[in-house]
Amino acid sequence: MEFAKLAEVFRKLESVSEKNQKTEILARFIKEIDKDSLKETFMLLQGMIFYPWEDKDIGIAEKFTIRALSLATGYDKDYIESLFVKTGDLGVVAEKLVSERKQKSIFTKKLTVKDVYNTFRIIGELEGEGTQDKKIKYLANLFISSSPIEAKYIARLTLEDLKIGVGEGIIIDSIAMAFSLPSENVEIAYSILNDFGELVKQILEKGKDIVFKLEPILGNPIRVMLAIKAESAKEALDIVGRPAQVEYKYDGFRVQIHKKGDQISLWTRRLENVTKQFPDVIEYIKECFPNDKDFLVEGEIVGYDKENKKYLPFQRISRRIRRKYDIEKMVKEIPVVVRIFDIIYYDGKSLINIPFKERRKILESIVKQDINKISLSESIITSSDEEAQRFFEEAISNGLEGVMFKKLDAPYHPGRRVGYMVKLKPVKESLDVVIVGAEWGEGKRSGLLTSFVVAVRDEKTGKLLEVGEVGSGFKEKKESIDDVTFEEMTEMLKDYIEEQNGKYVKIKPKIVIEVLYDEIEKSPKYSSGYALRFPRFIRLRPDKSVEDADTIDRLVELYKSQKR
Ligand code: ATP
Repeated sequence: MEFAKLAEVFRKLESVSEKNQKTEILARFIKEIDKDSLKETFMLLQGMIFYPWEDKDIGIAEKFTIRALSLATGYDKDYIESLFVKTGDLGVVAEKLVSERKQKSIFTKKLTVKDVYNTFRIIGELEGEGTQDKKIKYLANLFISSSPIEAKYIARLTLEDLKIGVGEGIIIDSIAMAFSLPSENVEIAYSILNDFGELVKQILEKGKDIVFKLEPILGNPIRVMLAIKAESAKEALDIVGRPAQVEYKYDGFRVQIHKKGDQISLWTRRLENVTKQFPDVIEYIKECFPNDKDFLVEGEIVGYDKENKKYLPFQRISRRIRRKYDIEKMVKEIPVVVRIFDIIYYDGKSLINIPFKERRKILESIVKQDINKISLSESIITSSDEEAQRFFEEAISNGLEGVMFKKLDAPYHPGRRVGYMVKLKPVKESLDVVIVGAEWGEGKRSGLLTSFVVAVRDEKTGKLLEVGEVGSGFKEKKESIDDVTFEEMTEMLKDYIEEQNGKYVKIKPKIVIEVLYDEIEKSPKYSSGYALRFPRFIRLRPDKSVEDADTIDRLVELYKSQKR
C-alpha cells in the first residue's frame, strides 16, 4: 500500500477534533488497508515502530532530523532551524521544504507503507560507529522520495509525535465500527494479541467471530486485568459482591509466567521479557509446579527477607527488573519470592471465561507451595465488612501494601480496569506520572537536572498533559540503597533530552515516577489545567510504561473527591 494513502488519512484525522469523526475516518480506512501491510499500517497509525516489549526506539533527535532535511532538500541547517523555531513543528517545516525543495527527487517509485516502516526499523536497529550519520542518511532518503504531505508525517514519526489525536481507544472503536463488533470484545481480543494488525488479519481470515474466541498464546504476553480502587472494605465488598475473596496486596511487581513444554518465560505488565533477570524464579517454578502441564499464571514477584520472614519494599527489587549483568550477584543480594494469584491458561485450555473461584481451585491443586519460593496469595473468603477490615489491618501490620478483593464468579477480563478486582490501600493517593521536561540546576547543582516537569495521560487522544514540577524527594547523596539521587536521574534522562531552551529541557516521555502531593488545584500554568501542590517523588516505576501512567480522568476524579 502506498504511504501517500496513509499520510492522507493522517491529514484527515488531524483536521477533525471530535472523537466520533476520527473513529469514522479510521473505520472507513481500516477496510481499505492492503492485507499484506496490516501490521506496518497499524504500527504507524500508533506512531510506533517498535513494540513496547522490544524496548527500542528510532533514536533520532530534532537536530538530526534537521540535518536529514537539509541533506534531502538542499536548504541550510540554520534556515531550517529558524523555521522550526517559528512553527514549533518539524512536520510543518518538512512539508514546506519538500514542496519548495531545491533538489528534485530522482526517484519515480512511490513510497509504500512498508518502505517507511522498514526504514525506520533499520534506523532503530543501527548500532556501532558512525550510527548517527547512517541514520541521517536513511532518513534523508525517505525525505528525498516523499511528497510534501508524506514528508510532514515522516518527520513527525521520526520524533514519535504524530499529532493526530488517535490513541488505542479510538483504534479499538474504529475496528469495532468497521466490522460491527462490540468495542469491549475488540478490546479484550487486542489485550490478548497486543497487535492491531494481527487482530484485523485474523478477523479478515477467520471471520469476525474470532474476536469472541481468541485464546492466549503461550510465550506471547497479554495485557493483564487491572483493579479499581475502593475507599473502605464495605465499598470494596459492595463492588465485588458478597462473599468475596480478600487477598494480601504484595508490594512487588506483577509477573505473567508462561510455561510451554520446557520453555518458561516471565513478563512484566509492560510486556517486557524479564526471564533472564530472574533465574531464581525459574528454578522455583520448576520445583513448585511439579506436573508437566502448560500454563499461564499471574503473581507478584516480591522481595523477601527469608530469615526474618519479612517482605521488602518495592524499590529494592525494582533494581532487578532492568538489570542485564551481575545477575547471580543480584539473586543473592535481593532475594525474591512469588505469590501467585491467578491462572489464565492451563493444559491446553484458556480459562478466561471460567469463574475466579474455579481458577483459584485449579491453582490450589497444581502449586506445591513453599513460602520461601512460591505460594498462593494469602487470602480469606468472607461476606463480612468487619472481617474484611480486620484482614486489611492484619495485612498492613504485616508490612503489606493493602488488600485486594476478588469477585468470586467473575471471568478474567484482560487489559481492563474492571470491578472484578478491587484494591484497598491505607496511604494517601499517589499518582504515577510521566517526566516530560526538566530544569538544569545552578551553583552546586550545575550539570544536574534538578526539577522535573511531570504529566498525566489523556486516554482518548494519547496526549500528555502537564500537572506540575517535582524537585523534592530526590537525594543529593546516596545514603541508602532506596535513595534516588539527582545524579541518577540526570544519567537516566540525558539520553531522552529532545530540546534545550536555556536551562529548560524537553524530555522524551519514557520514565514514569510515583509522586505524592498535598492537593490538586485548578491552574492555567500547566496544559492539563490542574496543578499538584507540593508534589514529591516517592519512587521510580520501571515496571510501568507511559501507557500505564495515571490519566487526566483520574486526576479530575481525585480533584472532585478532595472537594467533597
Ligand atoms: P498500585 O500502583 O496501587 O500498585 P497499580 O496501578 O500498579 O496499582 P492496580 O492494578 O491498580 O495496579 O493494582 C493492583 C496491583 O497490585 C496488581 O497489578 C499487582 O501488581 C499487585 N498485587 C499485589 N498482590 C496482589 C494480589 N493478591 N492480587 C492481585 N494483584 C496484586
